[in-house]
Amino acid sequence: MTYLLRLNLDIKEKNFKDNLRFKAAVSTIKAIQKRGHKVVILSHRGRPKGKDGTLSLRPFVPVLSRVLNRKVVFMPDFNFDKAKQKIAASPPRSVFLLENLRFLPGENRNSQTLARQLSTLADRYINDDFATAHREAASVVAITKFLPSQAGPILKAEVKNLSRVKNNPRHPLVVIIGGAKTEDKLGVIKNLLPKADWILLGGGPANTFLAGRGFNIGKSLHAPALLRELKPIINHKKIVTPIDWLTEGGKILDIGPETRALYAEIIAQAKTIVWNGPMGLFEQKKFSHGTEAIARAILKNKVARTIIGGGETITSLGILNTRYKIQDTKNRNLFLSTGGGAMLDFLAGKKLPAIEALRKKHAL
Ligand code: ADP
Ligand code: MG
Repeated sequence: MTYLLRLNLDIKEKNFKDNLRFKAAVSTIKAIQKRGHKVVILSHRGRPKGKDGTLSLRPFVPVLSRVLNRKVVFMPDFNFDKAKQKIAASPPRSVFLLENLRFLPGENRNSQTLARQLSTLADRYINDDFATAHREAASVVAITKFLPSQAGPILKAEVKNLSRVKNNPRHPLVVIIGGAKTEDKLGVIKNLLPKADWILLGGGPANTFLAGRGFNIGKSLHAPALLRELKPIINHKKIVTPIDWLTEGGKILDIGPETRALYAEIIAQAKTIVWNGPMGLFEQKKFSHGTEAIARAILKNKVARTIIGGGETITSLGILNTRYKIQDTKNRNLFLSTGGGAMLDFLAGKKLPAIEALRKKHAL
């Protein structure tokens, strides 16, 4: 049998063998292969507008081939007839990787035509990409109409672990939101407010609130289009914004030392912690201290049930050398989520299109 497998390979770091999403993807591929099936991998990278060589999935071919111990066949041209023939002629356990689906305009339009074309490549479909579950895309929603569909092990584990915190958080619940995808992340704050005791902001979300609270944020990353919508909650007491920050070239690029201390103090009280989004431009060492302070505060609080999610957030834990320290802490109830925006949407009680599509098929 041939399985169409939707995975998340939206990974930015160069050395990605230890990446959470990559390791999860490999374990799912292996599990399907072990039963003698062929696997056709569907995935995306970044937010390309049309074809963009810098966002190709080709760099994954040698690494996947090495860890799977067999040559992975790359299919760069979306020639579905040719691909179908190649797959049919291949031996059991063969693995194919399709080029970045977002190169095709139909992907993010949830095109039925594209979904039908994809479905001709396989007998069954498995979605194991939680991080894209909040998108209405052909390879995660429309596809379920054309093939018998299942939820993969990563997706199932995400739903199980996040549901516990969503339905039954122990209080105080401290939610930390930073990063760059400001529109996506701020969109859920209103829904999270009734549940959370504190929402600590960094990155683009913090800058947007600071602007709304009357501070001059210069050219800092923020989402001005959201300010009107946020007006009713802009001065809400549960939403904590930085009290000092680091700047360069007129941009706020990290939270400052007093904010680090304030956030650490609040995190120390938490019984549940949810974190998505770095506090600053952590890729540059001088702007990594805010993000590191959050990781250290989480490390210190050994009782809180903790969920940390998001591509760059998990990467930052690795770079700042805190990931395994947090994972290894005894008695800690920790879940590392592959999702950033998807995780926040799920916790806020929003319906995720890909999960709804699978539920309609009784696949979840
Ligand atoms: P995640 O992948 O964890 O969900 P995002 O994709 O939303 O997080 O954002 C991660 C990016 O946000 C990082 O590359 C980081 O450099 C950037 N970032 C954080 N704070 C700022 C800031 N103040 N200004 C510009 N970029 C920021
Ligand atoms: Mg990201």
